[in-house]
Amino acid sequence: MLLILAGVTITTLTGDNGILTKATEAKEETRAGTVEEAKELWEINKQDGSTTQTLDEFLSNLKKQNLLTDKELEIIKETGEVKIGKRVIIFRLTLVEMYDKAVADGCINENGTCQNKEHLHIGDYVDYRNPTTGSRRANAVDTGYESDQIYEASNNQLNWRVLGKDETTGGIKLISGRPMKSNNGEDDPYLHLYGAKGYLNSETILNNLCSLYTTQYGTARSVNIDDINEITGVTTEEKIKEVNKATIWWGDIQYNDPYNIENQYTPQSWLNGKYKTTVSGIVDNYVYTINSGEEPEIKITNTRVYDILFDNIDKASYWLASRCVLASSDVAQFAVRDIAMRKDTARVASFGLFSSTNDIEKENIRRSTSCDSTKI
Ligand SMILES: [Zn+2]
Repeated sequence: MLLILAGVTITTLTGDNGILTKATEAKEETRAGTVEEAKELWEINKQDGSTTQTLDEFLSNLKKQNLLTDKELEIIKETGEVKIGKRVIIFRLTLVEMYDKAVADGCINENGTCQNKEHLHIGDYVDYRNPTTGSRRANAVDTGYESDQIYEASNNQLNWRVLGKDETTGGIKLISGRPMKSNNGEDDPYLHLYGAKGYLNSETILNNLCSLYTTQYGTARSVNIDDINEITGVTTEEKIKEVNKATIWWGDIQYNDPYNIENQYTPQSWLNGKYKTTVSGIVDNYVYTINSGEEPEIKITNTRVYDILFDNIDKASYWLASRCVLASSDVAQFAVRDIAMRKDTARVASFGLFSSTNDIEKENIRRSTSCDSTKI
């Protein structure tokens, strides 16, 4: 008996039976729990605006309370996470915080070499998870095209890049790395829009197709002219008029000036029995070129930014979910905005699907590109 007791006592002192180790582990688990709770509280407070404490401030506060060691702080800075006891606690910044930090640090990562793990820039890839199932249909009755056009998630596993920050939702805007393809076949992956119907329904159709990518992490819609203008800086009436080539090339009525033509068709009057009426409104069309080398133009020197919007568009011109009207004194063109390549130059332009003068409707094909506003 004594021998056994002595034996037990000895092993306890050397720690080999695990009692000392367990005591340390329990202490570590308690510390891990405290750190994790503090982190969760900090995140909640940040979301509802009751704290403005940055991650750095929060971490050094934990360190002051001896809840984190210097070594652990270093590991968090390096990897965004730390293991305490058996728990891994994640301290990564949200995408919005990373985006804001890069802006605050004045980094646009123009040449793609920024190594700062706390930065997120326009053009960076983000692993937004595509839905793997589901589909959207552009009905012939809406597009004016001869048949329905179907888009399936399984055929469109897109990659995603940062397009900017959505000021209305506070989320990060993502743009798909390439446009979606319909099921029409490899030689015809485009979205066909035709005539008055295609014009009138274009925005709804495009936004509906792109909503295929709405998940619990974000709400998807089509890219529109405002998204593009935000990047190119064409955001005021003054700037639009300065870069507008529509008036130079076609001598049309300037942006924001009125048009008024009697005895012609509007898309609605055409569809509602082809009756003639007064066609009037405000011209809201404009066209500008990107890096054309011919003034006026918009110059984009950041090649990553250029690439996400305009690279490869000779093969994949795309629609924007924005309608517009261009007009002269005797005709109005009802158009859908697009991004297209003409004469080796990227254009932020539009394509007229319906003309007020006659009964000829046009069809055009462009890809549809999705945009996602997400808060992850
Ligand atoms: Zn950076």
